[in-house]
Amino acid sequence: MAFNWFKKNKKKQNTDDRATEVEQPACEPIDGPLPLELDDHDGSPSQIAAENSEDLSADQSAEISQDEPPAEPPDQAATGYFRRLKNRLAKTRKSLTDGLDSIFSGKQKIDDAALEELEELLITSDIGVQTTMALIERISKAKISDISQVKTVLKKEILSILDSRPDAPATNTGSPHVVLVVGVNGVGKTTTIGKLAASAGASGQKVLIAAADTFRAAAVEQLGIWAERAKAEFVKHKENADPAAVAFDAVAAASARGCDLVLIDTAGRLHTKVNLMEELKKIKRTVAKQVAGAPHEILLVLDATTGQNALSQAKLFNEALDVTGLAMTKLDGTAKGGIVIGICSALNVPLQYIGIGEQIEDLRPFDAEQFIDALF
Ligand code: GDP
Ligand code: MG
Repeated sequence: MAFNWFKKNKKKQNTDDRATEVEQPACEPIDGPLPLELDDHDGSPSQIAAENSEDLSADQSAEISQDEPPAEPPDQAATGYFRRLKNRLAKTRKSLTDGLDSIFSGKQKIDDAALEELEELLITSDIGVQTTMALIERISKAKISDISQVKTVLKKEILSILDSRPDAPATNTGSPHVVLVVGVNGVGKTTTIGKLAASAGASGQKVLIAAADTFRAAAVEQLGIWAERAKAEFVKHKENADPAAVAFDAVAAASARGCDLVLIDTAGRLHTKVNLMEELKKIKRTVAKQVAGAPHEILLVLDATTGQNALSQAKLFNEALDVTGLAMTKLDGTAKGGIVIGICSALNVPLQYIGIGEQIEDLRPFDAEQFIDALF
């Protein structure tokens, strides 16, 4: 079903998409160099932190004043965990719930005009055109008689999309288990590795981090700080060393030291004439020669604040490298967290982790039901 808003805006939407791609040339063909410019994308941490501190305190006070005192003492840890997720997704949640309220409040039934507005709301949340059309179709067929059921039906339909994604790969198949972490510059690879290392370390695993982003000395330094925080072993070479050689040494060291997990950080841009994807493939081949089945995972990190561009990047990396899982970062910094739903629906790759802040505890395994509950 194509509603008017979609027809009216299709042309504009296409133009907007193109504009985004020009600004963030990560979506260029694989043969072209990946961009240097992604550093100044939307999600600057200080900007996000400043914006969030306002939003979140307002959000929190609203929740506290609205919450009825529970009859029984709640599980404090679980409540705090979910509340933090909810607070961190505040921008997307506010945009979706405010939008739904303004579309349906005072209405007795769902008419075409309401569906058209819903379509606009979902598309502007970056759920993606195709997924939105599918959702609108399902809602219009759901024969909803009571307008208050719209949100419930929408949540159920989104959950069925998220639930149809493939299972996440096992995270302990190798000895050591080798994870290659890839993605364009600035998306949060290094930070995600730090958080993963900390969490694996806390659960008793011996972790080694490899600094195969050898382009900038600062990148190696940043990773070293995360390794220290996470109490992980750290292997680095000199600036501009061959990334595959770093990966080789790291896996050899991890085997010799009895490590359980190796996390390989990689560059996200071209620093020589060598194609980034070729460089990553070389790392892949090198570690495969050392440990059977390695790399056991290829984790692609995507930045939610880049919206539909994240989807283009995912397609590009997946074609070249057979990505096994995704991590979506910076969901705390965007009202367009709907990209999570768009990505899950468009790609046959599991979303394994979401990043909801810069702290070590701000990486979460992706739980579709919890995510949807936190959004609506
Ligand atoms: P890389 O170039 O892919 O290695 O990206 P970095 O790990 O260096 O991250 C780039 C910036 O994004 C850093 O300032 C991180 O602190 C920030 N960042 C990473 N993940 C998140 C997240 O989930 N939320 C927020 N707000 N910032 C993040
Ligand atoms: Mg990095």
